[in-house]
Amino acid sequence: MVKSRRQMAVGSRQKTAGALWPALRCALFIRYYLSTAYRLLPFAFRQPFTVYCLLPTAYCLLFFPHSIYASTPPLTCRIAEIAPHSRSLSVMCTLVDVPLGKLQLRFADQFAGVKGLSERIFALKVKEAGGAAWPLEIRGDGWYSLSVKAPVPRLNISYDLHLARALDPSQYALVSSLGSEAGFLMLSDLLPQVCAEAESGCSAQANPLRLQIIAPDGWQIATTEQSHENFFEIADPQRAVFFLGRLREQELPVNGMKLRVAMAGDSSVASDRVARLVEAIAREQAAMIGGKEQGDFLVTLAPFPLPMTGLRSSALTRGHTVVLMFNPGDDPARAFAHYQRHLAHEMFHFYLPNAFRIRENFDWFWEGFTRYTAFTTLLRLRLITLRDYLDALGEEYEAYSFNPLRARLSLIAASPDKFANPASYELVYRKGMLIAALYDLELRWQSGGRQSLMDVMRALYQTYALSGREVGNREVLAELAKSGDFARFIRDDIEGTREIDLAAAIKHYGLVVDRDLNNRSRPRISVTPKPSAKQRELISHLEK
Ligand SMILES: [Zn+2]
Repeated sequence: MVKSRRQMAVGSRQKTAGALWPALRCALFIRYYLSTAYRLLPFAFRQPFTVYCLLPTAYCLLFFPHSIYASTPPLTCRIAEIAPHSRSLSVMCTLVDVPLGKLQLRFADQFAGVKGLSERIFALKVKEAGGAAWPLEIRGDGWYSLSVKAPVPRLNISYDLHLARALDPSQYALVSSLGSEAGFLMLSDLLPQVCAEAESGCSAQANPLRLQIIAPDGWQIATTEQSHENFFEIADPQRAVFFLGRLREQELPVNGMKLRVAMAGDSSVASDRVARLVEAIAREQAAMIGGKEQGDFLVTLAPFPLPMTGLRSSALTRGHTVVLMFNPGDDPARAFAHYQRHLAHEMFHFYLPNAFRIRENFDWFWEGFTRYTAFTTLLRLRLITLRDYLDALGEEYEAYSFNPLRARLSLIAASPDKFANPASYELVYRKGMLIAALYDLELRWQSGGRQSLMDVMRALYQTYALSGREVGNREVLAELAKSGDFARFIRDDIEGTREIDLAAAIKHYGLVVDRDLNNRSRPRISVTPKPSAKQRELISHLEK
C-alpha cells in the first residue's frame, strides 16, 4: 500500500489546493470592497480587521462548494470509432459545472522530443447540447480558448484524432499510437486539459475524469486504471495508459505487485517465455532494491503500428505501465537478447524514477543508472554472461568517446535539455551508464566487496521513495558520496567534464582495454591475464 498512500497524499494535496483557490479568489473579491474601510481604521484596530478579512474565504468555501472544481471542471469522455486501419479515433467529452468567463482548452503539443502532437486533432467543436458550435479562439500549439458568458449546464467537446503520422522508430512508444494489431491510448496526449483562463498553470491540476473506451470488435483493453460500470475513474490522466488489441494476458503476482503481462500481434517470442522473463526480472529487481511496491502493474508487448524492417524496439514506462513495441528482425537469438535488455531497463523504471517524488530533472542518474542496472539484473539472473557485460561497457565507452560534447557538457548540465540535440541525449544515456559502472566497480573495490551500487540504490529507495520525500541532484550526489571516497569522482565525472580514460580507470580492478588502433575497432574489455586475489573476487562478485 506504500505507493497508493503516497499517490493519495499527493492527490488530496492537489484537490485541497484546487478547492482553496476559487474560494480565495471569491474572498479577495469581497475584500477588495472592504479595503477602503481598512484604510480608514485606526492602527490598533487593523490587526483584528485582518483576521475578519479571512472570514470571506470560509464563507466562499461554505456557500459555494461547487467552486471546488471551478478552475478545472470534471470531464466525462468517451473514446469511440477506433479504426485500426485508418489509424483514427473519435473523442467526445462532456463538461459540467462550466465556470463563467474565459475557458482554456489545452492539448499536449510535445512530449519527450515528439513535436506537433496537436496537429493530429481534426474537426474540434465545442457545443451546448443540441446547440450550434461555439466560436473557438485558436491560440496555437494545441491551445484554444472560448468565452462562457451565461451559465450553461454542460458543454460537449468533440474531435477526431489521426494517428497516422510517421515518427522515428524509437519514438512510437512515447505517444498514443494505433496500428492494425494494437493501440496504446495515453490520455496525456489524447484529452485536453480544461481550466479557467485566469489559471496560469492549467497543467498543474488535472480535471477529474471518467472515461469510456469502445474497443474495436474482438479487441480487449488492458490497463492499471480502475473501472466501475463501464467507466474508468482516472485519478491522474497524465499517467493513464490503455493497451488495446487481441490480447494474450497472464497475471503474475510478485510480492505485493499484481503484475500483468499483455501481448498483441505475432512477436515471434513465445508468450510463456515472455511471462517467465517478466516474472524473473520483477523478482530479482524487487530483491535488489528491497522493493515494497504494491498494486497493479502492466507490462505490454506489441508490434509497431507500421511495418518495420530489422531489429527495433521502442519503449516507455509511465507510472505502473511498460509500453514496449518490438520488431524482431530475422535473428531470433539476437532479438531475444535485445528484448530482455530493453525489458529489464523499462521494468527498473517502476522504481527509478517512478516510485520517487522528483524535484528536478536528473536523467543522467535515472536513465544512466537504470541502463546499468538492466545489465546487472540480467547478469545476476545468468541471462547474460560476464563477457556480455564487459562488451556492453565497451560499447558505451565507444559511444562516449565519439560524443562531441563529452568534454564540454557535464552529466548534470546535459540532463534537463537531453532532447535539445542527439549528442546531449547520447551523453545522458551512454556516459550515465559508464559512470554507473565505474561507481559500482570502485565502491566494490573500496569496500572490499561488502558494498555495491545496489546498496546505494536501496538506501535511496528507502530514504526517499518509501517516505515520499522529494529527491533531486543534491540528495542523489550526497548518497553516492556517503559510501566511500567519491568526492573527486563526483566533481570531475558527474558535475564536471573531465574526459574519462577507461583503460586507466579500470586497471585497478583487473580489467584491461584491448583496442586495435589501426582499424579503430570497438574497445574490448577483458580480465587481465593474472588478476590478484582481490581483483578475482571483485570480478566474480559482479555475477552475485
Ligand atoms: Zn529509460
